[in-house]
Amino acid sequence: MAMVRSFARRAYRVHTLRGGQAQRTALNIATSNNFSQAPQSANITTTSSTSRGNDGDNVFDFEDTKSLFASVSNGKLMHSAATLNVAAMEPMVDLSLWVMNSRLMDVGLFRNLVLTTIKYTAYDHFVAGADTVETGQTVRRLWDSGLRGIVDYGLEHTNDNESCDKATQKLIETAELSQYLPHSSVSFVAVKVTAVCPVYLLRRVSDLLRWEYKNSSFKLPWKQQTLPIFSESSPFYHTSQQPAPLTADEEHDLELAYKRLQSICDKSFEGNVPVVIDAEDTAIQPAIDYMTYWASFKYNESQRPVVYGTVQAYLKDAGERLYLAKKAADKTGLTVGFKLVRGAYMSSESKLAHSLGAESPIHNTTNDTHDCYNGCATFMLDEVSNRPGGLVLATHNLDSAKLAAQKAREYGITKDSQKLEFASLYGMSDAMTFGLRNAGFNVSKYLPFGPVDQVMPYLLRRAEENKGMLSSSSLDRKLMM
Ligand SMILES: Cc1cc2nc3c(=O)[nH]c(=O)nc-3n(C[C@H](O)[C@H](O)[C@H](O)COP(=O)(O)OP(=O)(O)OC[C@H]3O[C@@H](n4cnc5c(N)ncnc54)[C@H](O)[C@@H]3O)c2cc1C
Repeated sequence: MAMVRSFARRAYRVHTLRGGQAQRTALNIATSNNFSQAPQSANITTTSSTSRGNDGDNVFDFEDTKSLFASVSNGKLMHSAATLNVAAMEPMVDLSLWVMNSRLMDVGLFRNLVLTTIKYTAYDHFVAGADTVETGQTVRRLWDSGLRGIVDYGLEHTNDNESCDKATQKLIETAELSQYLPHSSVSFVAVKVTAVCPVYLLRRVSDLLRWEYKNSSFKLPWKQQTLPIFSESSPFYHTSQQPAPLTADEEHDLELAYKRLQSICDKSFEGNVPVVIDAEDTAIQPAIDYMTYWASFKYNESQRPVVYGTVQAYLKDAGERLYLAKKAADKTGLTVGFKLVRGAYMSSESKLAHSLGAESPIHNTTNDTHDCYNGCATFMLDEVSNRPGGLVLATHNLDSAKLAAQKAREYGITKDSQKLEFASLYGMSDAMTFGLRNAGFNVSKYLPFGPVDQVMPYLLRRAEENKGMLSSSSLDRKLMM
């Protein structure tokens, strides 16, 4: 455990790259991050290179915008620049958010007008298509420009077996998509466990797993082989008293959830495309990790993982949990893959913790999150460079991408090894995406798809994220113009 703490401490510590100066892009875009150096413990080493060829700044060439955006038509470029510029106007976004959340949306004609406007603006920019046919066309277009697609059918949480069955069918169709597309153009099928297992059950399973972790005599008869789900610093305030055991019906529903996940993994496996399981909020994440590791033991038999989980670096326990799971997997000879994100439920997590009188599970400062992200990325890059495993770095953060690209080069992780994928959301961070592609990395766009009204919550989140002149879209807007 001391080694775990040492890893976590070092992962969070704030360092700057050479000479204490954070690197800047050629365009001198303001960056707020400090890089943390690689976490160092007995078996985690840092190598540093000062040769120009390995310099993080040289990974991206943003000066030659012509070659950067060569694969994008002028029409698309103008549409993207216009959409992102409007999205950066705070009053405009606030007004749109107000309209979309207002009662006016209950009025048929008004609703149709708003949805049509959205369809030709934000939807076209951030969503890959209404169905698998349109999404397939988007994947082909990306593939022609040297990128891959993570296909993600836009689903909300499910609350009963019937909606889980329907959602599973949609996810199977999504997994089948790769069979009609150029080999390897689909890099992953995105899966939400909240679509294959009723959310109430994920809460119950998470409660029981927490209680078992805290009380070693408490046994869970239904529990199957897994990897460590908690660390000492994980939040436990969700479970204040001993939960009742699963009823026979609940155990039956859990069996159904395993089967649904299995049917999606089987289809992906057939198409030789791995699945990546999304992370949600801490109330249900233990059950999601449990099911992810359950599926990993079933499918990750070869050198390349078929099932990837997700770690959210904004959580204080993220570094420890990643370390414990990876090391336990190594011990049992299991190949594991992780997608690393910062995390999307910041305000709801803090609100819930506050309402229960507990400390927030989110890092106290943004820099702590950045350090955790960079520390976890460096740790995993080091791990996959000399052992089987996989890493998806899902981020729009240019500093994190630069650091990781630099480390990947130092560790000799090649594109052909298929061990590292950079990923960003469709319609976001295009300059970084093309920069990484030009630098010789595997790069994917995360492709949510579905009808306009179904993906509305997703679009609202994108609108929030891109608002303001300092948002992560500012580099794209500048270069596109
Ligand atoms: C391909 C892909 C897949 C994704 N999958 C998931 C998923 O499965 N689950 C999930 O939860 N999210 C997921 N996300 C969303 C992701 O978690 C982030 O919300 C999003 O990518 C922004 O983070 P960034 O790395 O791009 O960083 P940045 O552009 O650096 O943005 C990070 C933002 O978080 C804020 N922030 C972070 N930590 C703190 C803190 N401690 N205090 C205050 N502010 C803070 C910063 O202010 C900043 O605005 C995914 C994103 C991508 C690109």
